[in-house]
Amino acid sequence: MHSPYLAGKYQKKTQKTIEKTSEILPIDFLDRIKIQFPTDFDRFVQSIDQVPAISLRINPRKFGLPIAAEQVSWCETGIFLNERPSYTLDPIFHSGSYYVQEASSMFVEQAFRQMEHDSNRIVLDLSAAPGGKSTHLLSLLNSSDLLVANEVIRSRVSVLNENIRKWGHQNVVVCNNDPADFSHLEGLFDVILVDAPCSGEGLFRRDASAIQQWSVDNTNLCATRQRRILADIWPSLKNGGYLIYSTCTFNPAENEENLKWLAENNEVESVSIPLQENWGVQEMEIDGLFGYRFLPHKIKGEGFFLTLIRKKNGSNSYSISKKIKSRLEKMPKQFAEIRNWLTTENSDFFAKSEFLIAFPEDKIPVLNALSEQLRVISFGLPVAQFKKNDLLPEHTFALSVDRNPAIFESVELNLRDALLFQKKEEIRIDSSTKGWMLVNFQGVPLGFVKNLGNRANNYFPKEWRIRMALPELPDPWYFTARHTK
Ligand code: SAM
Repeated sequence: MHSPYLAGKYQKKTQKTIEKTSEILPIDFLDRIKIQFPTDFDRFVQSIDQVPAISLRINPRKFGLPIAAEQVSWCETGIFLNERPSYTLDPIFHSGSYYVQEASSMFVEQAFRQMEHDSNRIVLDLSAAPGGKSTHLLSLLNSSDLLVANEVIRSRVSVLNENIRKWGHQNVVVCNNDPADFSHLEGLFDVILVDAPCSGEGLFRRDASAIQQWSVDNTNLCATRQRRILADIWPSLKNGGYLIYSTCTFNPAENEENLKWLAENNEVESVSIPLQENWGVQEMEIDGLFGYRFLPHKIKGEGFFLTLIRKKNGSNSYSISKKIKSRLEKMPKQFAEIRNWLTTENSDFFAKSEFLIAFPEDKIPVLNALSEQLRVISFGLPVAQFKKNDLLPEHTFALSVDRNPAIFESVELNLRDALLFQKKEEIRIDSSTKGWMLVNFQGVPLGFVKNLGNRANNYFPKEWRIRMALPELPDPWYFTARHTK
């Protein structure tokens, strides 16, 4: 029996089936919940029948539109919406301006805020697909830090890569490795997030397949797998570094018992996270170890567990060998003008096939060390493609948070044209400028066209295009959220 993540398929529940969810909960699950939460049991079960809250997290480097929406208490960039909009029919959704994410998961931000730190941190998100927490981490990190976003399951890497690319940061490496592959990188990481594959009990009201796949045997299997993951990854965390461990289950074997097991076998300090009472988050403490539970009848969000610990032994830092030969090819000199395309001063440029990729210069030794040990899928930010002596701007450059706005002219599109552009259809550009232009919606860049006057060539990437037919178009959610208090 697999966890819902391994199965990879989610059955979205309809409003009609949500009413019956509590009736299909496994008896063994209910028996355990009754023991875990005896006084709250009825409220807990009733909450499983409620409609899940709708939340998203905005990209603070991109989303400049005024909105008045209820905020997620523990996340500065998290908001709730009153109803689920069509994200597909919102042009700025496809530009990485926000990420649709369940509110409890955004608590990672509070863990992050407790960490003592210098700049130049190297942070690993071990189980990163589809990229919810990785994009959040990118927003929390400084440009001098580096995020390594890893996903072991091959088929889930492309969605991770796509979401990271759209978020628009260059201080990131995406890889596809088993946790055991990191054991050679002893003491490299300042922070590791293990958002573990789990029995998914916290998703029951959103996802009927999580209920169908649940069994006592499966929860035990998940707990054993999580211990193996933690043991595999532990050496690569440096002494004094932080581990955030999270799951979306209520099962103590996967949560507090794994925390106890880790503390019994290693020198750790458990870090407590200050809470506000109105958040409804429950702190648990066993033998000086703290964990944070999100119970669906107490919070506006789904079931979640998180703990923050600090490593108190082991290697202080990974020594990056100068002998490692870089596989990166330097950018051909004739393209030096590309340095002006970005506002960052610490970017270096590399040629990979016919692409020029920007990556923070001081992180190149780390990238080389990662490339020696891991299967690196992508790094940095593709800025342009070169053909002979020409530079063709890349779509990811349009979405970059470091793009120099003075380099390309832009033109504003209406909603229908913006979506036609993202369907990769032909659009007319109302501008006397010829050549490369950015197209915007509500001032947010969506991508490039090459305006030929009588028509424009559309450079939206084929693999990311909107495939649905355009119906009558509703206003995007932020048009309404602006006016509601
Ligand atoms: N962190 C992600 C986010 O916020 O979007 C969600 C991660 S999900 C809870 C757990 C992830 O663990 C899945 O992407 C799954 O593919 C991955 N996974 C499955 N088996 C694993 C294993 N043996 N070791 C590490 N990760 C695994």
